Amino acid sequence: MKTKSLCPQCLEVIDAEVYGEDGKILIKKRCEEHGEFNDVYWSDASSYHKFSECRYEGNPGIQITKNSDNGCSFDCGLCPEHKSSTMLAIIDLTNRCNQRCPTCFANAAVSGYLYEPRMEQLEEMMKLLRSEVPPCPAVQFAGGEPTIREGFVNIVKMARSLGFPHIQVATNGIAMAKSEEFCHRLKEAGLHTVYLQFDGTKEEPYKILRGFPALKTKLKAIENCRRGGLKSVVLVPTLMKGVNDDQVGDMVRFAAENLDIVRGVNAQPVSFEGRVDESERKKGRITIPDFINLLEEQTDGEIPRESFYPVPFVAPFSYFVEAWKGIPQMELTVHPHCGAATYVFVDNGRFTPITEFVDVEGLMEFLMEESEEIKKSKVGKMKAAARIVSASILGKFIDKDKAPAEFDAVSLMSILGKGNRDSLAVFHRKTLFIGAMHFQDAYNFDFERVKRCGIHYATPDLRIIPFCSYNAIHRPSVEKAFSTPLHKLHSG
Ligand code: SF4
Ligand code: SF4
Repeated sequence: MKTKSLCPQCLEVIDAEVYGEDGKILIKKRCEEHGEFNDVYWSDASSYHKFSECRYEGNPGIQITKNSDNGCSFDCGLCPEHKSSTMLAIIDLTNRCNQRCPTCFANAAVSGYLYEPRMEQLEEMMKLLRSEVPPCPAVQFAGGEPTIREGFVNIVKMARSLGFPHIQVATNGIAMAKSEEFCHRLKEAGLHTVYLQFDGTKEEPYKILRGFPALKTKLKAIENCRRGGLKSVVLVPTLMKGVNDDQVGDMVRFAAENLDIVRGVNAQPVSFEGRVDESERKKGRITIPDFINLLEEQTDGEIPRESFYPVPFVAPFSYFVEAWKGIPQMELTVHPHCGAATYVFVDNGRFTPITEFVDVEGLMEFLMEESEEIKKSKVGKMKAAARIVSASILGKFIDKDKAPAEFDAVSLMSILGKGNRDSLAVFHRKTLFIGAMHFQDAYNFDFERVKRCGIHYATPDLRIIPFCSYNAIHRPSVEKAFSTPLHKLHSG
């Protein structure tokens, strides 16, 4: 397949080809000035093709750039060409950090400037996100380390007052580990989820990825979140071959043991920044199918590879709710090779993926067809929807003999019938979410993916920029335009 990518050295847009070889999917490209680049795009050809079938066209939900003259990704945005609305917005609160990860180039000490949008700017950015159609449902504060930003608790309160149904923080957990009271204040302010950097259940990966043995800090952070009343922690490992790929099963087991507070594991295969030579990339590169296969191996087949589906697989769910409510819903129309996920029930340490007892493919097909029917229905959309979400119809997609005791058609009915976050939250409390999103770097960058991105940065100049395009292209210019050089701060 022909696509466009970036030259990792000069960041010029160049032609690229995504192609199969030896059971893998690779990407190759050539820059006139800097030569040829090759990398693994997806390490298993058969799941690549299966995932490829799951494609939906969405729309941007907001148009800030009125035309697309400069070409993707230089018109962000969002521009009229964009194919997904915001499913999760990221706002960087600071580029300062209380950790010095050897792999991070984004912190203030290295960049030489301080980036911290003012409170008024943050408010305008959040208002912009809430003006999207549908309004952006979730905001994640990030950085640097967002918890060290002065007034962080007030920023969370601001997000709540602006109506975000879901508020998250991406953190290394140091501030949480230091203070249970801080966790409590965050809970009171309206924080829903702590997205906790968590690279393994042993110290080795932390020494390599974070520069110090951080496991104790993570455990203390989880304990303080629990005591402080926070109800949701998602473990976020940066996955790197040879560093922590032997620990994916253990991390999922650890999550299951802490199901009262840990809602999920969301792995992020490492992305490479700057110039990294091919042999080093080959050594560390891991892709989504590697993660899925490792998990199958390391859970003795309890979570098999077939239980994972691409993120947009659940788009018919939103179409269905949208059809009967008549209100635009957030649609998960991201590119099928950006992420994969499943839900597993946990019972006495045993995992039962939802795909073991729900015919998820049949259900999604059914919802897709029914959403079309509801749109045409003259009987009243509510009535039509009520008929469809009745236990007798939905029950046929559930194999009761294989389903865990906690699960029945009623759970499914309440999610579909109410179509709101509360019913989804009930479902989440009984299950563990396991997902992976492979953020792109300049080596594997594919403009087809970024055009469908649903994870968007809001910036102080009131633009909305897809995550991978922001990190590969826009971050330095945005941060420089809105930051203060460190030497001026020190002299002033
Ligand atoms: S990434 Fe999206 S918003 Fe940005 S230029 Fe491409 S299509 Fe437009
Ligand atoms: S953040 Fe990157 S990997 Fe995730 S949906 Fe957007 S383009 Fe895909």
